[in-house]
Amino acid sequence: MKTLTLLGSTGSIGTSTLDVVRRRLDEFSVYALVAGSNLDLLVEQIREFSPSVAVVATPELCDQLARKLSDAGIRLPELASGPAGRLAVATAPEVEIVMSAIVGVAGLEATYEAVRKRKVIALANKEVLVASGKLVMDACREAGTEMIPVDSEHNGAHQCLRAGRRDEVTKLILTASGGPFRRTSKDDLEKVTVAQALNHPTWKMGQRITIDSATMMNKGFEVIEACWLFDFAPADVEVVVHPQSSIHAMVEYNDGSVIAQVSATDMRMPIQYALTYPVRETAPVPRMDWTKARTWEFEPPDLDRFPLLRLAYEAQAAGGSATCTLNAADEVAVEAFLAGRISFPGIARVVGETLEKVPNRAPRSVEEVLEIDRASRETARALVG
Ligand code: NAD
Ligand code: MG
Repeated sequence: MKTLTLLGSTGSIGTSTLDVVRRRLDEFSVYALVAGSNLDLLVEQIREFSPSVAVVATPELCDQLARKLSDAGIRLPELASGPAGRLAVATAPEVEIVMSAIVGVAGLEATYEAVRKRKVIALANKEVLVASGKLVMDACREAGTEMIPVDSEHNGAHQCLRAGRRDEVTKLILTASGGPFRRTSKDDLEKVTVAQALNHPTWKMGQRITIDSATMMNKGFEVIEACWLFDFAPADVEVVVHPQSSIHAMVEYNDGSVIAQVSATDMRMPIQYALTYPVRETAPVPRMDWTKARTWEFEPPDLDRFPLLRLAYEAQAAGGSATCTLNAADEVAVEAFLAGRISFPGIARVVGETLEKVPNRAPRSVEEVLEIDRASRETARALVG
């Protein structure tokens, strides 16, 4: 039996993870469920998976959760809250696998400490590597642990890299759907609404990542993550727009052969791969149907209409805390866009200006990363007004 702590159980990745676990209850047991504030869904998850511990964002939410569980007649697990609670369940000796699927830097410290405790990390949370890639990868090397990526592109790359030796690899290619505005002109981008931006053509995800997909910031984050995970220079990670999202990643080898990873656009595929690696288990979702005609398209990304992708390449090449600032500024700008305070292209303008204003440093600890994150947010908030 593998024991699992699930950071972010009520989110899009969290609920898909529990669906994979639900089908493999003879293999996995849930030690801890960690959520933010969606107590009703968490109560249902506790009823079904009987974790030893449940963690929520604040002590007040903890009290509310206890009342809801008692009212529903559900046996109370141990309850905890906040950063200390998250840290404890990510590093507990009982735990073998930590699924890191909280959104934002709230998931960073627990994931970092879990690495240091040699847990197997299934990594969905982008901010872990975007904000703190060097520290986290150094910790992985020191502890001798590998993070298995859950993000579909990196999960695909992880699979493609099993086809040869790392020193035979020349290039990594990440695919991007292009989002809802692939064909929208620069002028029309000024007028797009929140509802249009939230309407992703191929994936159903949380709000932040859905907007980041529409701006291609998400692909920029993925370039940064790929550089850290697989030790690539930014120039050796290429992005290609592939609207069908069937190919998730490709790896080019020195003889010119390209290995691509193809699967259904359903996050339960990479989640199961990460949880059962190095074993492949029966498909958790319907397989692709090759008897039907289909077309796959490819085109280069337009860095003029989607400048956040360019900023991500530049931030990764700059090193230090630039990518931490990039992420923090983007989160603030996306919130402002969702609240109707700035336009869609305004997101890139806020991020670009924040990067110019916040000095680049080399953080030596997670606390310093979180400090830079806070300072960057403040600068970005002042810009959105
Ligand atoms: P989501 O918004 O649906 O869920 C986020 C989860 O984090 C929720 O369970 C929420 O309760 C929890 N959370 C938020 N703040 C918290 C806090 N302070 N303390 C404790 N828990 C907190 O997001 P998602 O789409 O599931 O994405 C999760 C992460 O995975 C993100 O970093 C995202 O970029 C990444 N990711 C998601 C997908 C996808 O398909 N959804 C794909 C690749 C990567
Ligand atoms: Mg992705």
